[in-house]
Amino acid sequence: MPTPEIEARASELAALLERYNHEYYVQDAPTVPDAEYDRLFRELQKLEQDYPVLQTPASPTQRVGGAPLPAFVQVRHVVPMLSIRTETDSTAAGALEFDASVRRELGMAETDPPVEYSAELKFDGMAISLRYEHGQLVQAATRGDGVTGEDVTANIRTIRQIPLQLIVNPSGRYNSVAPSVLEVRGEVYMRLDDFRRLNEAQLASGGKTYVNPRNTTAGAVRNLDSKVTSNRRLSFFVYGLGEVQEWLAQPDTQSEVIAALGEFGFPVCDLNTVVSGGAALAAFKDKIQSKRDQLPFEIDGVVYKINSLAWQRQLGFRSREPRWAIAHKLPAQEEQTLVIAIEEQVGRTGAITPVARLQPVFVGGVTVTNATLHNEDEVRRKDVRVGDTVIVRRAGDVIPEVVAVVLDQRPMRPTSGGDLFSSSEEPMYPAYRLPLACPVCGSHVVREEGEAIARCSGGLVCKAQRTQAIQHFAGRRMMDIDGLGERYIDKLVEFDYVHSVADLYRLTLDDLLLMKRRADEQDGVTPETVKAGKVATKWADNLIEAIAASKQPPLARLLFALGIRHVGESTAKTLADWLGTLHNVRRAPRAVLVALPDIGGVVAESIAEFFAEAQNEQVIDALLAAGVAPVDEHAPKAQLSDKLAAANLYARLNVPRLTEVRAQQLAAQQGELATLAALPRAAVIQLELPAEVVNALADWLDDAANRAQLQAIADYCRTLLAGLPQAEAAPQNEAVAGKTFVLTGTLPTMGRDQARALIEDAGGKVSGSVSKKTHYVVAGAEAGSKLDKALELGVTVLDEAGLLALLAS
Ligand code: NAD
Repeated sequence: MPTPEIEARASELAALLERYNHEYYVQDAPTVPDAEYDRLFRELQKLEQDYPVLQTPASPTQRVGGAPLPAFVQVRHVVPMLSIRTETDSTAAGALEFDASVRRELGMAETDPPVEYSAELKFDGMAISLRYEHGQLVQAATRGDGVTGEDVTANIRTIRQIPLQLIVNPSGRYNSVAPSVLEVRGEVYMRLDDFRRLNEAQLASGGKTYVNPRNTTAGAVRNLDSKVTSNRRLSFFVYGLGEVQEWLAQPDTQSEVIAALGEFGFPVCDLNTVVSGGAALAAFKDKIQSKRDQLPFEIDGVVYKINSLAWQRQLGFRSREPRWAIAHKLPAQEEQTLVIAIEEQVGRTGAITPVARLQPVFVGGVTVTNATLHNEDEVRRKDVRVGDTVIVRRAGDVIPEVVAVVLDQRPMRPTSGGDLFSSSEEPMYPAYRLPLACPVCGSHVVREEGEAIARCSGGLVCKAQRTQAIQHFAGRRMMDIDGLGERYIDKLVEFDYVHSVADLYRLTLDDLLLMKRRADEQDGVTPETVKAGKVATKWADNLIEAIAASKQPPLARLLFALGIRHVGESTAKTLADWLGTLHNVRRAPRAVLVALPDIGGVVAESIAEFFAEAQNEQVIDALLAAGVAPVDEHAPKAQLSDKLAAANLYARLNVPRLTEVRAQQLAAQQGELATLAALPRAAVIQLELPAEVVNALADWLDDAANRAQLQAIADYCRTLLAGLPQAEAAPQNEAVAGKTFVLTGTLPTMGRDQARALIEDAGGKVSGSVSKKTHYVVAGAEAGSKLDKALELGVTVLDEAGLLALLAS
């Protein structure tokens, strides 16, 4: 007799399985992985085997599936839709044991020939019975509890792979006439590509994503709206028969049944095969297991069926399962385990990914200890917390991920502050929040609007991004440090010779030689020179020289080299051209940056964020201290005074309702930013603007940070504009102002950019091509077709000296 403990465990297991069955079969929303369900099922089976008194007809081990939903009309299956005994020992022993038991039950001697089996895939979808009368689909039903299912005909008719009418072919082997009744059984499933597409569409429209193809399929088949089913793009495979009447050419093996159903027009899986004996079954399972990751749909095992239908009838059934078939499970791809911690990983580009540290669990063929949580929104949506039991999935080579939380296993504690008598509880651990500071370097974390990924803003200092930052800095179009390749950068970072780009300028010859020796030792190589008892130093001399030579870059290159997110070559050039000095760029407020040509809100924000990060500022200071100095710093562009007009800046403050037009009206009344910054609320309300604009502005100014920001912009602009070449005051150079210039060839002393700046500062325009409208062509050495064109059109051609004379006139 079972002890009271064993009895209690058995009824606990029965209750749990009952609940999981309901969630899986009725609600299509399982809360535990199949592997966990199978473990509990087997535990109960074992207890019932050891103590038969525990086994009742109501036990989950004695029943199939779940109850039909009352929303659908019920269908009684004339031939019940049963379960299949599951063999969870996924080694060859499972197959051999099945073959042995079949031979035993058929009373075969060892000398008898091997038994023939139909070896099939176990599709992970939903069982469906399709009833055809005289060739027409008349009813489709779910398995339900095996005896009574649900009528889902309208939904099933939307599946294009299911024939509404059987194909009849007078010369066909099995399908020369349609049987009066033919019940076809098979699996409705969703292809992985269709599942992925569905989830992408859900994400794009802001909807929730589906957990796996099986539940999605079941949910679609049992949806009350056939349109939903139709949009899910379901597929179908046949595997068997239900009731059959008047089928003249009925086959006598399982494999022929499937072939016959293929002739009638049903999709047949071409991986199904016929094998003889237990070892061949095991080999089949191994083959399918190795192909599993390449299959376009999910399977959770293989099914072995005795091929002879006569033998199948002879063996018959035991309660809920046939004796002539088993399902041999493949290793689970979903398992459950505990979340020990949630940490963040910082990628080489600064992207921050939350990762769950897990109690090690064997899933998908490997031991998994972390799983990606993708991004903050995803963690919040799934509400993954420390201490949670979660379902982890690892399919194929895909990075393991947390699919869902097993909510009722979440650790709880009594509500804090609750009264003595209430028994309410709250989760032990809080909901996840992305940290405000980068876990690697402490720089602040930014998440741009509309972006799912948050990033560390410490591009120049963050260890995770160091290698990438230095590679970018040294690149050809940036600081152009010749000889500083990826391998050296990796090693300089790894051995801690450089923590930031500024450290490059402190490297000594000894540092480089030592670094190289350690790198060679680490890689186990001994260079030829070392073998010959010499140390090669030329490369290191050259590298030190190249680093020193990079100290005087054009400002635009230096700005590009800093690796500010969204700042490419052209934005860097805009910044350099317009603001003139590194100092001006570093201090530029966001509103000023957006006022510059081709710089939008996101870019301006990212530049301002970059320079707001104190650690980045320190690196820039260190660069300057090491002697890095842009060669071409100059006064800001004269046209800046227009760009920084009050109306322009007001419109870029992000004050609600302050549109371009309203900003102009405001500027007409308040021409000075500094005055507006100091204006008391009472006076703001008096401004002559529509009430809602005035109110929005007054509210905005109520925030002290906004007032301070406005004041800072005013101060910045005042200093900047004071440094402008006196555009208005300087008498216009009539020879240049309003004239169009084209530059070609190499000038003896001036760079193109410099010549262009001089011309533009004097009010001239620089164009890229020569036409009749061109006033001057400035030609240097190796001038090409533009010079020819100028001569042809009779345009005045100047050399550098001529240009300088014109500018001085
Ligand atoms: P089963 O294991 O009893 O197998 C029978 C089913 O297999 C059929 O109804 C059919 O749908 C399917 N099948 C696929 N390919 C087939 C083929 N070639 N030939 C015949 N049948 C084929 O199936 P079941 O009762 O639907 O599921 C039991 C399994 O479901 C459990 O082992 C467990 O993993 C899972 N389950 C999980 C939960 C949970 O909460 N996670 C709850 C209940 C069941």
